[in-house]
Amino acid sequence: MKIQEWPISKFYLQKLSKSPVKHFCAKHFIVRQSISDGDDMVSFQFSKEQEYIRKAAREFAEKEFTPELAMKCDREEKFPEELFRKCAELGFHAVAIPEEYGGGGYGPIEQMIVMEEFSSVNPGLGLACLIPTFGMEILLLHGSEEQKEKYIPKVAEGKWIMGMANTEPDAGSDSAGIKTRAVKEGDEWVLNGTKMFISNGSIADFILVTARTAEVKDFKERHKGISYFIVETNSEGYRATPIKGKMGIRATDTAEVSLRNVRVPSENLVGQEGMGFYYMMEFFDITRVWVAAQAVGIARGALNLAIEYTKQRKAFGMPLATFQYVNFKIAELATKIEAARTLAYRAAAVQIEKGKPDSTLSSMAKWYAGEVAVETCNWCLQFHGGYGYIDEYPINQFYRDAKITEIYEGAKEIEKLVIARNLFRMKV
Ligand SMILES: Cc1cc2nc3c(=O)[nH]c(=O)nc-3n(C[C@H](O)[C@H](O)[C@H](O)COP(=O)(O)OP(=O)(O)OC[C@H]3O[C@@H](n4cnc5c(N)ncnc54)[C@H](O)[C@@H]3O)c2cc1C
Repeated sequence: MKIQEWPISKFYLQKLSKSPVKHFCAKHFIVRQSISDGDDMVSFQFSKEQEYIRKAAREFAEKEFTPELAMKCDREEKFPEELFRKCAELGFHAVAIPEEYGGGGYGPIEQMIVMEEFSSVNPGLGLACLIPTFGMEILLLHGSEEQKEKYIPKVAEGKWIMGMANTEPDAGSDSAGIKTRAVKEGDEWVLNGTKMFISNGSIADFILVTARTAEVKDFKERHKGISYFIVETNSEGYRATPIKGKMGIRATDTAEVSLRNVRVPSENLVGQEGMGFYYMMEFFDITRVWVAAQAVGIARGALNLAIEYTKQRKAFGMPLATFQYVNFKIAELATKIEAARTLAYRAAAVQIEKGKPDSTLSSMAKWYAGEVAVETCNWCLQFHGGYGYIDEYPINQFYRDAKITEIYEGAKEIEKLVIARNLFRMKV
């Protein structure tokens, strides 16, 4: 046995730290990290440390994601602030933020583990706990040291919430089609435009906003001339209108954001001017495995609900679980979930090995896991019959929450386009 060496990449793999998560784990388990000899062997097992994080995340979710809170936040479309603070105290939301900025110092696998476990217990509350760091990778990879020091520790502590805004009323899948403009005036940038469906838009302290900083005449060149800015939400001219009536993930905040002559200092430009579109594509390549883990968690949770329900519910004098058709379907879904899970973690493992994401694998993982989640929830609700149609039954929420994984961070068709373009080596 020997201590595992952690490969070095730009930000993923930091030394293990005395993070709150680790403290939490250590409180419950003895933390020791080791792998068996034979480095060239393919391993499909979590390390002991990862297993401890998984158990800790599960324990937290089972204790804190009560059915009452889940129902309240779902029905009232309410962000569970107190729950988020508890989660943040333990550091689950910041598990992959480097320890020098106050995070757990772990990597994408650990982040996925937390996401998967949280989502399997309650997808809405799980996402609400973890989405407050949305956009963090862009800041970590391209922010200046001053920006990182000013913003990241506050997010890691759970004191500040962030977001990332690109989508506009007329530009979603076509993410280079944005109309928001940023014009330089002295040592400030002035932003004007409207952003749509922005997660945390009305609860965030700051948002990473894309805006066009250079006009391009050629339609095919539109991805050039887009830049990222840090916009503090208390800036004059920033207005967020919460979007109500979402089908699922109703415990999260989603808003339409209007920017009217919002002035930000020039030092709020993130990275290089004109590189925003490329940063965004890189970001999605990284975070799509995170959505895949969310989808896998949702599917797992739904399947567990269906297994329990079909063991108890009788029809024609027999438990549903004894019908062969039910058995076959449960077996098929479980197999698909396992395949999606393996693909998702492999995509993340390749990120670690290469030190950068593999966009083909990330897109495959997100598309496939999303599809499996939607299919699984559909069948699991079906097995609940009429009861599944009522929101008092948790399967109902899983069914509604699953759908978002096929829409945000790239609709499933966009994932397929990325995969095909990479395979054909066409210019994206
Ligand atoms: C709850 C929620 C939270 C969100 N959070 C954020 C956020 O924090 N930040 C942010 O920037 N955005 C966010 N979004 C926006 C999300 O990323 C977009 O909704 C998504 O990218 C799809 O864009 P659209 O809605 O404009 O659909 P459109 O681009 O209009 O596409 C509609 C449909 O057309 C099909 N389609 C589109 N293009 C193609 C194509 N080329 N080939 C084949 N089919 C195609 C797909 O089926 C797609 O679903 C969020 C959305 C929701 C619903």
